[in-house]
Amino acid sequence: MINTQIMLIKRAIWYIVGLLLFYAPFALYQKALFGLVNYNKPADIHSLCLRMPLLNLLLGKWSLIVPVVMITLFLFFMFAIIFGPFFCGRLCFAGALPEYLSRLIPDRFKIDWVTGINPIPVRYGFLAGYLITPFLAGSIACAFCNLSFMQRLIDGGFWGEFGVLSSTNIITFFLWIILFGIFTKGGRGFCNFICPIGAVQSLVYSISSRLHFTYKLRFAKDKCISCGACVKACSMGSLQKEPDNSITYQIHNCITCLQCQAACPKNALTYGTGKSGWKDGITLVNNEPSIQESIR
Ligand code: SF4
Ligand code: SF4
Repeated sequence: MINTQIMLIKRAIWYIVGLLLFYAPFALYQKALFGLVNYNKPADIHSLCLRMPLLNLLLGKWSLIVPVVMITLFLFFMFAIIFGPFFCGRLCFAGALPEYLSRLIPDRFKIDWVTGINPIPVRYGFLAGYLITPFLAGSIACAFCNLSFMQRLIDGGFWGEFGVLSSTNIITFFLWIILFGIFTKGGRGFCNFICPIGAVQSLVYSISSRLHFTYKLRFAKDKCISCGACVKACSMGSLQKEPDNSITYQIHNCITCLQCQAACPKNALTYGTGKSGWKDGITLVNNEPSIQESIR
């Protein structure tokens, strides 16, 4: 319990660092990078948006891809390859805000979407739509983006610009903070089902975690007593306890936040390099074969 609280505080400090790094009026990362490449553009979360650069990359408009975006994309993918969804698990203030707010509400008032709806096809489906829509002459407005909304909230707090909030923003706010946030178990419904930035990182992590030198959530089956504390601590619903007492791990929505590691009383979960210890995303405890294993 104490470990869990300490981890929550540690993560909160990381998320505040993320706020200072990426959001105006601070935007320390953008300002440092802009200075480095002599790039003259307002420094806020919009200047890091990966959608238009990705589209320009796909359309072959190389001249529009400025160095700052290339450096950011490079760092983004390198971090995801080596450390997993590092941005989601440590730095994304917009993802952390509803998670932390939801901790103020008793669980009995929350919806457990993840056990009812498999988030993986939904989140990758959104990612595909996000990437394909511009090719179909469609447009995905910034008003649907929680990171953009976070910037607007900060702008409002600092400069009194709440007037820019439109009806679309209100829908985003309702989904992000209220329905999929405060009233969702774990508070990360938006991250789980909608966010394309998280989906890209998950896709990269699901492949790169197979490499020996990359960091991943590791499991030591022999230490696990199937207490379920990790399952309770996981805000993404990546860990589940099956009826046969096996613990299953869905790597495609894990954000490597390590709340599960802090909650485990037996140190069965660790974060590091080498083999993961998970068996195709499914592991067995108490030497009882899981349903999936029996079928194989
Ligand atoms: S499985 Fe662990 S590291 Fe992954 S999201 Fe859940 S609590 Fe965080
Ligand atoms: S991994 Fe740790 S917290 Fe999770 S069920 Fe096993 S012993 Fe409990």
